[in-house]
Amino acid sequence: MFQTIQSATEMQRHADDLRRKGKRIALVPTMGFLHEGHLSLMRVGRQLADELVVSIFVNPTQFGPGEDFETYPRDLDTDLDLCRREKVNIAFTPSRSEMYPENYQTSVRLDELPNHLCGLSRPVFFTGVATVVTKLFNMVKPHIAVFGEKDYQQLLVIRRMVKDLNLDVEIVGSPLVREADGLAMSSRNNYLTAQQRPAALSLYHSICKARQLVDSGIRESGRILSEAVKIIGAHAENDIDYLAICDTETLDHVDVIERPVLMALAVRVGSVRLIDNSVLEPNRQDG
Ligand code: AMP
Repeated sequence: MFQTIQSATEMQRHADDLRRKGKRIALVPTMGFLHEGHLSLMRVGRQLADELVVSIFVNPTQFGPGEDFETYPRDLDTDLDLCRREKVNIAFTPSRSEMYPENYQTSVRLDELPNHLCGLSRPVFFTGVATVVTKLFNMVKPHIAVFGEKDYQQLLVIRRMVKDLNLDVEIVGSPLVREADGLAMSSRNNYLTAQQRPAALSLYHSICKARQLVDSGIRESGRILSEAVKIIGAHAENDIDYLAICDTETLDHVDVIERPVLMALAVRVGSVRLIDNSVLEPNRQDG
């Protein structure tokens, strides 16, 4: 059976009931405008639990001033149809005032991980994410929560937060899903015009080039990054926010690639900010 719940207390009561019956609950937190990337997370959750809850909430506290909170794409009816099709049990769709009632004043902030990559250009982002995810965990009471590797730094932040706060939730990471042409799926791809699409694809092309260079024995991050800058910079509408090769756990910069490292990038294509990433493996065996 599929149902939607808007109220936090109703969600908690329902979660308590499920837990009393011995059901395992999986949560997939989303901001809606669902695409195949989200659906892949739901399928993972479906496999790992008895009850699958998908939350749909465009979280205002993770958007900075001048970012796209107001214009973020929304289509709840289609999202609910997709949830039904994926055999989701509950779509949890709280309102803004349900999540942040009047006089709300508490947040969850990490000290180190946000001082890298997306955290530098989006200073409130990870506090907003950590806070809303903590609240969702307390409302949905999941045994398991599934997050996409598309938002690699976010996944690290959530894992760290769960350890640091002793939250009793198992965090499962799920691979990045791409369009047929390689563009990382994102609700924000909806903003792209047909003319901007080749510029957007250059993020993926820069990752492919990096993999190729690493496979051919190049180990200097600087060389790989300058090739990536060339590929992305070839499109006049692109403005690089960051382009990094870094440690897969700490996100500290890595100069020489001697172990698997994270290549992560954020680029503004016109006014659309896109992110992408891939782990580069120096000793990858083909086939
Ligand atoms: P969002 O709705 O963008 O906040 O994303 C909700 C969840 O879906 C997050 O855990 C994201 O990492 C994940 N996600 C978004 N896009 C993708 C993708 N292309 N592949 C895999 N997971 C994704």
